[in-house]
Amino acid sequence: MFHHFHGGHTQKIWGSLTADRLAEIIEFVGLERILKPEEWVERCLKGKLKEDDICITFDDCLLSQFEIAMPVLESYNLKAFFFIYSAPFFGELNRLELYRFFINRFFLDFNDFWEVFLSFNSPYRLIIQKAVEQFDGNYLKDFPIYSYKERAWRYVRDVILKREQYEKIMDGLIAGYTELDLLAQNIWMTNRHLQKLQKLGNLIGLHSYSHPTAMSLLSKEEQRKEYKRNFNHLSKEFFLPYLTASHPSSSYNKDTLNVLKDIGVLIAFSATMKTAGRGRYELPRQEQRYVQEVML
Ligand SMILES: [Zn+2]
Repeated sequence: MFHHFHGGHTQKIWGSLTADRLAEIIEFVGLERILKPEEWVERCLKGKLKEDDICITFDDCLLSQFEIAMPVLESYNLKAFFFIYSAPFFGELNRLELYRFFINRFFLDFNDFWEVFLSFNSPYRLIIQKAVEQFDGNYLKDFPIYSYKERAWRYVRDVILKREQYEKIMDGLIAGYTELDLLAQNIWMTNRHLQKLQKLGNLIGLHSYSHPTAMSLLSKEEQRKEYKRNFNHLSKEFFLPYLTASHPSSSYNKDTLNVLKDIGVLIAFSATMKTAGRGRYELPRQEQRYVQEVML
């Protein structure tokens, strides 16, 4: 599972890879093991996936995937899944992604940002401080790539604050450094980029409309809306021979799986290896960082 790359238009951010690093990872895991998306879906549906079979996935329609990763895939004649959320295609800035770029551009590291975030003067400052004091470390404990403080931050962001409250704090913070529109330049792909990816044999899949941080906390109707709007966008613009999805932020519940089945989705990926063996709507994925750790 890949997200960010750097080089070209795109700054280096946490966990981002260069083209060379991507090539090293591909060679390390072994070209012969990497299936084309269609092949992966076919084998999965027939229960014929072998232990060693892998596929490549990209989430979040980031322009760096097109500019930096796609040429590497092409050089190896590899094809991949691209899971797309639709909001950026309709001019709606996804603040989660903008905030990630903001934090990386203006702070030395996560701890540097966290100190500023905690002391930022907002109506929610006391609520946040209390939540952090009482945080038991359990939230997202299945994701060891996050430090304790990063999990506390995500807990505050996803569970304690409403989305608009978190955005109010972050937008206020950003105003002291830059403008949202400037941050948004060259972050996301457009339909034209996706058309090119599709033409090259890659498979485009669902990833919700607005990329909620915690889909499982939404009502079934809200979840249906998220995926319906996403489906309407992608099915109108692209040929989707196999309907596939990945769960945004790896968050989902029974309702989500039913919504996906209703829409006709054949397989869906989580973002953790812990879901191995749970079936084709919770297919496990490994974050590229784990592969890099093994390579060291
Ligand atoms: Zn995502």
